[in-house]
Amino acid sequence: MRENVGARGLIFNEPLIFDISREGRDGASIPDGVGLPEKKIESLLPKGSLRDDIEGFPSLSEVDVVRHFTRLSQWNYGLDGGFYPLGSCTMKYNPKINEDMASLPALNNLHPYAPEGLAQGALRIMYELSDYLAEISGLAKVSLQPSAGAQGEFAGILIIKNYFESIGEKRHKIIVPDSAHGTNPASSALCGYQVIEVKSGSDGLIDPAEIEKHMDDDVAAIMLTNPNTLGLFESQILKITEIIHKKGGLVYMDGANLNALMGIVKPADMGVDIMHFNLHKTFSTPHGGGGPGSGPVGVTKKIAPFLPTPVIVENNGNYSFQYGNKDSIGRLRAFYGNFGVMVKAYVYIRSMGGDGLKKASETAVVNANYIKEKLKGIYHLPYDRECMHECVFSDKIQGENDVSTLDIAKAIIDRGFHPPTIYFPLIVHGAIMMEPTETEGKETLDSFIEALKDIAAKAKEDPGSLKASPEKPKVGRLDETQAARNPKLRWRAGQKDG
Ligand SMILES: *Cc1c(COP(=O)(O)O)cnc(C)c1O
Repeated sequence: MRENVGARGLIFNEPLIFDISREGRDGASIPDGVGLPEKKIESLLPKGSLRDDIEGFPSLSEVDVVRHFTRLSQWNYGLDGGFYPLGSCTMKYNPKINEDMASLPALNNLHPYAPEGLAQGALRIMYELSDYLAEISGLAKVSLQPSAGAQGEFAGILIIKNYFESIGEKRHKIIVPDSAHGTNPASSALCGYQVIEVKSGSDGLIDPAEIEKHMDDDVAAIMLTNPNTLGLFESQILKITEIIHKKGGLVYMDGANLNALMGIVKPADMGVDIMHFNLHKTFSTPHGGGGPGSGPVGVTKKIAPFLPTPVIVENNGNYSFQYGNKDSIGRLRAFYGNFGVMVKAYVYIRSMGGDGLKKASETAVVNANYIKEKLKGIYHLPYDRECMHECVFSDKIQGENDVSTLDIAKAIIDRGFHPPTIYFPLIVHGAIMMEPTETEGKETLDSFIEALKDIAAKAKEDPGSLKASPEKPKVGRLDETQAARNPKLRWRAGQKDG
C-alpha cells in the first residue's frame, strides 16, 4: 500500500479564475513611447468574435494565470503519477519517445493539404502502420481513418451493410452478446440494424448453441469481443465463427482488448472478417479526458473494397491517396484521421518489435492473473478461471456488511491509486474490473493488492468507516446523481461555490 505521508502537503484549494480577477490587472505590458497607436478592440475584431456576454471577464497578471493553471494541474491523477488499473481501457504507461517523435516539426507542422509529393514521409508512416496492423491481426487491409474505437465500429458496420447490399442481400439483424461494450449495440442500431442480444453462459462465455439458435439468413453479423469484457478468452470462438459463416454472415471483432493477443493469436485465424483497433489503448497513446484517439478498421480481402476513402497506395516507393473506389463507404471525417496518434502507434510498434509486442501481451496476462490469484477469496470472483489481460471481481462478500463496489472504489483513492472500472461489465452485479497492463512492476501490483486487502479487512471490522472515503484528496465523495442530472457547466457572475 502506498504511504500517504503529506498527501495534502502544499496542494491548495483553488478559486475560480473569475474570483481571483482584479479590475485593471493584466498580463501584457507594452512599454510607453514605442510609437504604437492605441486602437479599440472593436476596430480590430469583427463583432461576432467579441465576447461581451462574459460578465466580469477575468483580469489577471501573468504569474496569477501560471499559478492558477499549475495548481489545477496538480489535482490531476494520471499515468505519469501512478497506477491506473481501469479495466477495458488499457491504461499502460506511454513511453515519452512516442511524444518526441509525434512532435517533430516535419510531422507536426505538415499541412493536411500539402501536396502528396511533399508528404511522402507521412504517407509512408501511415502506409507502414496499416501494414503492421494487418500483420498483427492477420487481416488483408486496414484503414486508419476512424478517430476512435466507436467510430471504427460504425465504419465496420457500414462496411458490412454495403457488402450485403452489393451482393443483393437484405439482412436486418446483428447478434451482440450481453457482455458487449455499450458501443457495440449502439453502432449496430445507428446503422439501422436490429440488435439480437445473446446471453452468456454460466461460465461467462458465449455458448455456440445459443448462436446457432439465433443465426439465420437475416443476420448480417455477430459483433463480439475476444477476450470478452470479463477478460475471458472465448474458447469456442472457432465453432462460433463457423456457425456465422455457414449462413453467410460476417464476424466483427471489437479489438479493444487486443492487448491480450498481440503476437499470440491473429484475429483472422479465429475467423474474424472485420475488426477495429484502439491505437490509443493497445498501441500507447495517452487517452481519457476526450481524446484524441484512433480506431483503425481492418478487413479481409473480400470486403476490402468497402473501406473508407481515400486509401493509401504504394507504387515503386511512391505513396499516394487513392480516391473514387466505387464500393467505398466514403469518408468518415475531414482529412485522414488523427495523424499524431498514428505516429505514436508507429513509433511504439517500431520500438517494441514483434517479439516486444508479444512479450507485452504475455506480461499483461501474467499481471492480471497475479492480481486475480492474490485477491481471490478476499473478493468474490464470479468466473473463477484463467483470465487474459484483466480480471473482474464483485462486491458480493463485502456486500454482506453493506459495503458496495462504490465504497471500495472510493477507499482505493484514499490508499493512493486510481480506482478500477466499476459496475461494468453489466452482467456482473457490482463489478470491479481490474486491468493492470504490462507496464507495472511487481512492487506496484503488490502494494495495490495490499490496499485492496486492507479495504476488505476494514469492510469486516469497521464497514461504516469506508462510507466516508475518500478523505485524503481535496474533495470528498461527490453526489454523482446530482452531477449527472444537474451539471453546472457555466459560471455566472456573483455565483458562489457549489
Ligand atoms: C474502449 C472500448 C470501446 C470504444 O472505444 P473508444 O475509442 O472509446 O470509442 C469499444 N469496445 C470496448 C470493449 C472498449 O474497451
